[in-house]
Amino acid sequence: MKKSVQITRRRFLAGTLLIPAIDVTRPLMAQDLPRLEESDPTAAALGYKHSVEDINTDMFPRRSTEAGGENQYCDNCVLYTGEVGEGNWGACALFPGKTVAAKGWCNVWAPRPA
Ligand code: SF4
Repeated sequence: MKKSVQITRRRFLAGTLLIPAIDVTRPLMAQDLPRLEESDPTAAALGYKHSVEDINTDMFPRRSTEAGGENQYCDNCVLYTGEVGEGNWGACALFPGKTVAAKGWCNVWAPRPA
């Protein structure tokens, strides 16, 4: 049995008002993604910090000056894709759907190939 559906002008207009305002003309960019929280369980386990000043080098000695890690930042890590430099945030393959601070760091850091 076929049921006919009548869409009145009022129902049509009410439905269009429920459609969120999405700009479909531009692709989703990294800056649209939420920032990784330092409290994220994976981030915390890997010692991720937005600022390298906050890294506990006793727990994560790879980032210590003694270990030669003082020049390790997300923006020179192989897993980072984003703008380089202070104040920028970019995508990290380790944390899909989130962005990390360009001048952040975590214990998975690996150098970009030259
Ligand atoms: S994997 Fe690299 S880019 Fe991602 S959070 Fe760790 S250091 Fe930063």
